[in-house]
Amino acid sequence: MNDPQHKLTIAIDGYSSCGKSTFAIEVAKKMKYLYIDSGAMYRAVTFYCLQNNLIKNGKLNEDRLIHSLKNIHISFQYNPKKEANEIFLNGINRSEEIRSVEVSNYVSQVSKIKKVREKMVELQRELGKNKQIVMDGRDIGTVVFPDADLKIFMTADPAIRAERRYKELVEKGKKVDYNEIEKNIRERDFIDENREFSPLRKAPDAIVLDNSHMSVKEQMKWIMDLINQKLK
Ligand code: C5P
Repeated sequence: MNDPQHKLTIAIDGYSSCGKSTFAIEVAKKMKYLYIDSGAMYRAVTFYCLQNNLIKNGKLNEDRLIHSLKNIHISFQYNPKKEANEIFLNGINRSEEIRSVEVSNYVSQVSKIKKVREKMVELQRELGKNKQIVMDGRDIGTVVFPDADLKIFMTADPAIRAERRYKELVEKGKKVDYNEIEKNIRERDFIDENREFSPLRKAPDAIVLDNSHMSVKEQMKWIMDLINQKLK
């Protein structure tokens, strides 16, 4: 494990609000790997759409978005104070804004567009070209890194996921409605699983982690055992 030569690609996929990011961040810290939140990239594109009136009366103008893709530049920068990667949209840090309920409500509409996915996947592969990366999302083990060394598919009871998301937003001082959050989670799951391009699927070689009743510590022990086996 302390061998600096180890170069794994770790793909973590799963349903919305399963705690993928928390888990992936911890794994990346432990391994001293780069962590990339691919969902943040689709959220940043959605934020762009909202900012530029590409969504009107709840409807996304797909043609305009496809035309605008050349103007959307996404990058990540490590913030040592926060010990986290922050996402920049056209040079501006949007790490906070992309977490809004409004972005959550539209992100699955944006992420089902083929051209959007192609652009994001290209950037994700570029970020992962040197391996030593933990990336979480919906299609990381199936599409982005089909040859990943370790693939985890995370799931948890939808009510437990909604509860966790609700608490997270309340702790951040947001005024949110629990029922709306649960509805959003179920809708996103449905769209993500049923979309035409890169639907959310467990890769055949992915290992399932149902963390409904597991602490982060327990999840870490579970994955570090798997990683240690890989590195033997
Ligand atoms: O992970 P998070 O919930 O922030 O992702 C937001 C949305 O982005 C998901 O609901 C999904 O529609 C989309 N997404 C995706 N493919 C990924 C990551 C996220 O389609 N690899």
